[in-house]
Amino acid sequence: MINIDGSAGEGGGQILRTSLGLSLITGKPFRIEKIRAGRKSPGLLRQHLTAVNAAAKIGNAEVTGASIGSQALTFKPGNINPGEYKFSIGTAGSTTLVLQTVLPPLMLASSPSSISFEGGTHNPFAPPFDFLSKAFLPLVAKIGPQVTVELIRSGFYPAGGGEIRVRIEPAKSLNRVELVSRGKIKRAEGYALVAKLPDKIAERELAIIKNRLGWESSALHIRRDDTALSPGNVVSIEIEHENVVEVFTGFGEKGIRAEAVAEQAVKEAEAYLNSDAIVGEHLADQLLLPMALAGGGSYITLPLSLHSTTNIGTIKKFMDIDIEVSQIRDKLFKISLNS
Ligand code: ATP
Repeated sequence: MINIDGSAGEGGGQILRTSLGLSLITGKPFRIEKIRAGRKSPGLLRQHLTAVNAAAKIGNAEVTGASIGSQALTFKPGNINPGEYKFSIGTAGSTTLVLQTVLPPLMLASSPSSISFEGGTHNPFAPPFDFLSKAFLPLVAKIGPQVTVELIRSGFYPAGGGEIRVRIEPAKSLNRVELVSRGKIKRAEGYALVAKLPDKIAERELAIIKNRLGWESSALHIRRDDTALSPGNVVSIEIEHENVVEVFTGFGEKGIRAEAVAEQAVKEAEAYLNSDAIVGEHLADQLLLPMALAGGGSYITLPLSLHSTTNIGTIKKFMDIDIEVSQIRDKLFKISLNS
């Protein structure tokens, strides 16, 4: 039984999700204590509980301690069953983080899966839908598995009720991917999504992108989604190079000015554009697991977040993989994985 300390490093939900996925893949049972001890409301929230139940369901696992607020659980994996599933969080908790849990085992399964996830689709502190579809999954496709994702309805805090549908085509073998150059720039666009809110908010946000990044109006777009159950607002900046797409996001919140929402995304995009990093902070922590499963890979990135260093620690608990972090120069690092 592998013992996981949920308070290590970042002390958040990713320690649990990585452990669930790797337990199913390796067949190794684990016990986790101090779940999300680094957070204001520790223990399992609905998103994490849905992830535990989803992992148990696709992997015929035996679980103890799976209840709201639980700070410890034991997970004994069984055989992975690809197929059709529907997982509803029941709150605005992030659908993409539940997907993050079940994707690694299902992308290595013997046949495809189709899954519907209900909950939040654009949550602060989680991968928003556009990041998933345009930045993360195309890199997973280079590693091998072809995963398509469709946004059926946006879901925002507090009502949730969003839906994404995902089709996972596993790969027979995974490729080692080396992300060492961005390639030529192909596209740079900004989007302001408004749901049940006036267009004026989106216009103010796009004006910030225009002024700060000097982009033409033709690269800036308003998107409306009035099918969402509650109001929502998200700014996405997409930068596509030949070898990688990055998506930087600002999340609207009640009481936060539109200009500040756009600034969040602009600051991240600027840090990336002013660097020689191939992938930004979030891809850096999320690529570790698929690359480890591929037996290796590498990428050049910005200084590692606590999420990344914590995820490295969790992966090493389950897998015998060497993950080397070397500094290239000021604020530029190379991550190399080798089995
Ligand atoms: P907790 O509530 O315990 O903090 P959590 O379950 O919400 O945890 P974390 O452990 O904080 O999750 O992990 C969040 C994940 O979401 C990380 O993989 C991180 O890279 C990703 N993420 C956060 N913000 C963004 C963003 N703007 N774009 C892409 N990915 C993001």
